[in-house]
Amino acid sequence: MIKNKNGILFVISGPSGVGKGTITKALFEKISNVLLSVSVTTRIPRNGEIQGNNYFFVNIHEFEQMINDDGFLEWAQVYQNYYGTPRKFVMENLARKRDIILEIDTQGALQVKKNMPQGIFIFIAPPNVAELAKRIKLRGKDSEESIQTRLSAVKQELEHMKFYDYVVVNEDLELAVEKVKAIIIAERCRYGNILMEGSS
Ligand code: 5GP
Repeated sequence: MIKNKNGILFVISGPSGVGKGTITKALFEKISNVLLSVSVTTRIPRNGEIQGNNYFFVNIHEFEQMINDDGFLEWAQVYQNYYGTPRKFVMENLARKRDIILEIDTQGALQVKKNMPQGIFIFIAPPNVAELAKRIKLRGKDSEESIQTRLSAVKQELEHMKFYDYVVVNEDLELAVEKVKAIIIAERCRYGNILMEGSS
């Protein structure tokens, strides 16, 4: 019998506002047997965001406690807030051969790459910086000051692209989702991820 050997860790990352959250959400409509890791954050919930669904919203003391308890696979300060991936959820589900997706910023992705180089790292790139500025403004969730900070970080973040396995340009949402789905399917078929059981 041919089976998958281990759960695969997929890391979807890229500059803020590039659409990685939208791509990840749409991806879940189109692919099965993959779990999304829910991050912990000190950010205030936005309208409509649900505790434990979008994020685990905590205060800074609770976040620091999790750092001290080695509870994060990675964590980073993104602008004024802290974000982290709970280690337990990821490790337990990978051990159960479940595939996991992390949707995290580039600082976090580089930390995961150091600790778990066997992960598959997918960089979502903007078609160009002007387009990204337009998207962040259209989203209307950020102050003018925060927009400027985010944009100046983008150019620096594009430098990180070389550490990734795949680059998906988010010019067209549907196409970008198809590409990420294709990457996941191909990685599941990779010889190194396959286990032959009881063959005669
Ligand atoms: P937002 O506040 O808009 O939900 O997210 C801001 C940024 O934080 C996004 O780039 C998002 O991908 C990133 N982010 C969300 N969760 C995590 C996490 O657990 N770790 C890291 N390093 N970044 C995260």
